Amino acid sequence: MTLLSGQWGRALRTTGRFALDLVLPPTCSSCGEEVDQPHSLCPACFIRMHPIGEPRCDQCGVPLPASTHLGRDARCVSCELHPPVWSKARAAYVYDEGSRDLILSLKYADRTQNAIILARQMNRAGRDILEQADWLIPVPVHWRRLLERKYNQAALLARAVSRLAVVPVFVDALQRPRATSRLASFSADERAREMQDAIRVRPRAVDTLKGRRVVLVDDILTTGSTAAACTSVLLSAGAASVCLLAAARTTPDAQEDISQTELPED
Ligand SMILES: [Zn+2]
Ligand SMILES: [Zn+2]
Repeated sequence: MTLLSGQWGRALRTTGRFALDLVLPPTCSSCGEEVDQPHSLCPACFIRMHPIGEPRCDQCGVPLPASTHLGRDARCVSCELHPPVWSKARAAYVYDEGSRDLILSLKYADRTQNAIILARQMNRAGRDILEQADWLIPVPVHWRRLLERKYNQAALLARAVSRLAVVPVFVDALQRPRATSRLASFSADERAREMQDAIRVRPRAVDTLKGRRVVLVDDILTTGSTAAACTSVLLSAGAASVCLLAAARTTPDAQEDISQTELPED
């Protein structure tokens, strides 16, 4: 038994947190304003976030203005014409000015606690695919980028979702042996070419993934090229199905509004 285990440990930790809150009140994870609860947003930032609810395309997760825009199998026109390789996709928020600060500061500014807020809504948005899942697998980053950022934001999100949905994370099932260029300004063909051989299943993961239902976790779903590359290698390795769960996804409108240079790499 360690010194801080059991009831005393809990009481001390609670008191410690209370004392810390008196010295440093919790702040909004997006703008830094004071808030009542840690890991939360102030009312102004909260209303700038746009959770994706129904109706949305079952396969790519894009929000739709009305359910009349859904075709057969509850899919959007784009998925009917060009079905993605993954089975279903869910995203917690629309990628817009509201969610951008939260996600980019998770990615580039060490605000790792933002994963907790995003994961809450990812768990809600992805409930149906999470209920069926055997493994959560984060989209990998190249080791050089991992050295720069010290962590993989997709792995932080996967861990936070795992705690809520009680689905295990296979954190290094995928690896990214080759660094890729920024994909946002590429054409679909160029993106596919750029992603070829950029991602692979770690050999020791193959047995574990055979016949398993995988949920691939990422921060932002933009063009879907990275997700498609991950899905293809997972299916080739024998995974039974691959679904996607993202913190946010761009919408066709946003892709026109946000200039190419502002679009996040996916
Ligand atoms: Zn705020
Ligand atoms: Zn779709």
